[in-house]
Amino acid sequence: PQRVVWVLGDQLWMGHPALVDFNPATDHVLMVEAPGEARAVWNHRARIAVFLSAMRHFCNDVHRLGWAYTYVRLTDMADEPSLAGRAQRVLQSLQPRVLRLCEPGDWRTLTSAQALADDLGVDLELFADPHFMCSRTEFARWAQGKKTLRMEFFYRDMRRRHGVLMEGRDPAGGQWNYDSDNRQGFPASGPGPIAAPELFAPDRITEQVLTLVAELFPDHPGDLAHFVWPVTRAQALEALERFISVRLAPFGPYQDAMWTGTPWGWHSLLSVALNLHLLDPREVIAAAEAAWREQHLPLASVEGFIRQVLGWREFIRGLYWLDMPQMAEANHFDHHRALPAWYWTGQTRMACQREVVQQTLTHGYAHHIQRLMVTGQFALLAEIEPRQVSDWYLAMYVDAVEWVELPNTVGMALHATGPRFTSKPYIASGQYLKRMSNYCQGCAYDPAQRTGPRACPVTTLYWHFLLRHADELARNPRTALMVKSTARLSPEERLRINQTAADVLDHLDDL
Ligand code: FAD
Ligand code: SF4
Repeated sequence: PQRVVWVLGDQLWMGHPALVDFNPATDHVLMVEAPGEARAVWNHRARIAVFLSAMRHFCNDVHRLGWAYTYVRLTDMADEPSLAGRAQRVLQSLQPRVLRLCEPGDWRTLTSAQALADDLGVDLELFADPHFMCSRTEFARWAQGKKTLRMEFFYRDMRRRHGVLMEGRDPAGGQWNYDSDNRQGFPASGPGPIAAPELFAPDRITEQVLTLVAELFPDHPGDLAHFVWPVTRAQALEALERFISVRLAPFGPYQDAMWTGTPWGWHSLLSVALNLHLLDPREVIAAAEAAWREQHLPLASVEGFIRQVLGWREFIRGLYWLDMPQMAEANHFDHHRALPAWYWTGQTRMACQREVVQQTLTHGYAHHIQRLMVTGQFALLAEIEPRQVSDWYLAMYVDAVEWVELPNTVGMALHATGPRFTSKPYIASGQYLKRMSNYCQGCAYDPAQRTGPRACPVTTLYWHFLLRHADELARNPRTALMVKSTARLSPEERLRINQTAADVLDHLDDL
């Protein structure tokens, strides 16, 4: 072949920029499964299975088109586990003039593909990824000259630029953001009946993949028995349709709410399909906007959802490429503690952490507030080293690709990038978790107590964090009020908080 198109595992769409002008007479598709990828970090087995199954389904589409392709399976090339090493072998035998590649989802794959092309003396044709609605160049232009970057302003630009939820030059309904309508907990009696999301029983290909993953990765974390993810474009479209028609309206008010035994809440579960490129963000946004315009779904829910996809998702991706590779080293608070072992098992007496970690082990899924305010904020308050936390998130979620996982973890959850793109650390005491969930009801600890035998570790560490970082937090108008509450503490109470916190921090594995 003259040109080899290397289709990576998270680029599974016919809109792939190197496939749209594919010439069957001279071009060749390359797809590579690599055990090295699964082992680069410790991986949830459902995450490995999602990628493999979706890749195999996509390769079937390529096969049906009659195009020439090479598909390297996990069990091929037993002596070469790495992605780049495997690709190199195939390219050596195919000897193309050009290697065509669409911008990968992580820095490491980009640099290793560049090195590979150099080594082989092959021209690398690198395409911008048109899946995203803001290119890396456009984002860099937007960010130029700005010291701090804020999603809200980026999002307004994107609304204007793409004409989403606009009425002339104004935002639909007169406001850009309806979040104040959206932060409700479930009623005290519980969430009530929740219309189920579209979940997919494994087909033959997925069954084979599940068996293979169970065989090859017996000691990796995560359950395979509850695999429900869309792995084809047709399934992704069904999932989108179901979300818009029955779940989008209540998604808005309850997007921050948590409840035991309620892993999905009213969330869309579309991140997997979006991140594999089985769905185009434009069609997702258009479907949500149409539901408001034509079916009169509440604007607060529709805007809240669109902000996640058009705002946060694009913003986060822009930041990743703007600030890599140094983002991976960010550690604003200079935290170096080890990740507690229960992050991998869920075996802790803290009901909130237990619930979220166990749900994650079962499904490879937790929704945003669970990731941010339960496991994420605990890692921040417990002074865990950002890299270890980030490795955990990359390993544990079925939707994890580094461009989206890393900025969310180090930037949003851990504030490890300082004020670069979040205006404050997201911290709250156990009382917040009590308000937003029923977790505290089944807990060995009491969210109202910061010292004493039943003190809630989240609450203790929250107060300890306020005391420890009082100067920095007092200078920030968004956190100044929080710090003021420490002024009322007597010297004895401060001492008790610091002593209790020291004890908690010394025994993180035993909580
Ligand atoms: P919904 O709540 O239904 O939201 C709709 C869509 O909006 C999502 O599918 C997603 O594509 C997008 N979205 C929402 N919030 C964000 C965000 N903060 N950043 C980017 N996109 C967003 N998301 C991932 O896709 N992969 C990750 O590896 C990932 N890691 C995260 C790690 C941490 C510490 C945190 C706090 C968040 C992380 N997120 C990640 C963002 C978010 O939690 C997930 O996108 C969301 O929970 C996926 O579930 P859903 O599809 O039901 O989302
Ligand atoms: Fe979590 Fe504290 Fe509530 Fe227990 S009491 S569930 S540790 S917030």
